[in-house]
Amino acid sequence: MLDLAILGSGPAALSAGLYAARAGLSVHIYGSDEPGGTLMQIDEIANYPGFQGSGRDLAGIMRAQATSAGAKLDYGECLSVQPAGDRAHPVYRLVIDDEPVDTRTVLVATGSQPIPLDFEVRSPVSYCALCDGPLAAGKRVIVVGGGNSGVSEAIFLSPLVESITLITRSELKAEAALQERLRALPNIAIREHTLATPELLDTFDYVFVCIGKRPATSFLEDLADQTVFDKTAGPISIEVTRELRLFDSSGYLITGRGKSGAHAALQHQTAIPGIFAAGDVRSGVSKQAIAAAGDGAAAAIEIARFLR
Ligand SMILES: Cc1cc2nc3c(=O)[nH]c(=O)nc-3n(C[C@H](O)[C@H](O)[C@H](O)COP(=O)(O)OP(=O)(O)OC[C@H]3O[C@@H](n4cnc5c(N)ncnc54)[C@H](O)[C@@H]3O)c2cc1C
Repeated sequence: MLDLAILGSGPAALSAGLYAARAGLSVHIYGSDEPGGTLMQIDEIANYPGFQGSGRDLAGIMRAQATSAGAKLDYGECLSVQPAGDRAHPVYRLVIDDEPVDTRTVLVATGSQPIPLDFEVRSPVSYCALCDGPLAAGKRVIVVGGGNSGVSEAIFLSPLVESITLITRSELKAEAALQERLRALPNIAIREHTLATPELLDTFDYVFVCIGKRPATSFLEDLADQTVFDKTAGPISIEVTRELRLFDSSGYLITGRGKSGAHAALQHQTAIPGIFAAGDVRSGVSKQAIAAAGDGAAAAIEIARFLR
C-alpha cells in the first residue's frame, strides 16, 4: 500500500515526488509519457528562476532529484480511480495500464494540453505567447481566439511585435475589461466572425493559437457522481453536489474547499478526501512551469500533513 500515488510526470509531479519522499512517504509517480511532461516540448525556458536551458534538461534535473530522494518513477497511464476504505482510513484503488495499485492518497498532476489547429500551416505556430512571444519580436502576428486567453495573449504580445490581427469565429467573448485594453492597443486589428484557414494564417509571420485547453481528467469522470466517504462505513454513493463539485465548467479540478478544522488548510484537496491536485490540471492556477513546480511542492507538504 502506497502513502501517495502521483499521476503525471511533469514539473508538478516531480516536485511533489521530491517533497513527499523527503517527508518519508512511500511515493510512486506514474506518467503516461517521458518524465518531464510538457517541459519536454520546450526548446528553451527563459522564465524559470535559477535555471536556463531546455525543458528536457530541466526535466532531467527534476527527475534525478525526485528519484534520488526515494520517489519511484514509472511509465503508466492511470485509467481509473476507485474508492475503498472509510472516511477515517480512505484508500484508493487505481488502475495503471492493466495493473491495480492501492494507495492512501492520490495527487492528480496530469496537466492540460492546448487544443491544436486541425490543419497544417507553413508559418510558425505557438500555443503559448508567454513562452514564445520573444520569437515573434518585430513580426506580423495573428492570434486565433477571442476568449480571455486569446485576448490576454494579444495584450502580452502587443509591445513585442509589429502588428497583431486577432481573429475569432464569433464575437469577442473575453471579459469587458480585457476587451477594453485590447481595443486600446496601438497595433491591433480585430476581425470577428472570421474562421482560421491555412490560407489566411499563412499570410502572417507568426501564428498564436488560443482556442482553449483540455485538462487531462477524463479518467476521473466516474468519481464525479459517487465517492464521498461515510464516517463509519465504506464508501457511500452520493451525488457530488453543486456545492461539492470535482470539476469547474472547463473540466479543471476544483480544490481547497475544506470547510473547517484541519481540512480548512488543505488548499490542494479536491471535493474527495485524500484526492489532491497540483499544477496545470488545478482550476485557477497560472499555467507555467515554475508555478506547477511550486504547486506540487505545496501539495506534497499538505498530503504529508493529511496523512499524519
Ligand atoms: C508549447 C509549450 C511551451 C511552453 N513553454 C513554457 C515556458 O517557456 N515556460 C514556462 O514556465 N511554461 C511553459 N509552458 C507551460 C508549462 O509547460 C506547463 O505550465 C507545465 O509543464 C505544467 O506542469 P504540470 O506538471 O502541471 O503538467 P504537464 O507538464 O503537462 O505534465 C502532465 C503529465 O501528465 C501526463 N498524464 C496525463 N494524463 C495522465 C494519466 N491519466 N496517467 C498518467 N499520466 C498522465 C501527461 O502525459 C504529462 O506528461 C509551455 C507549455 C507549452 C504547451
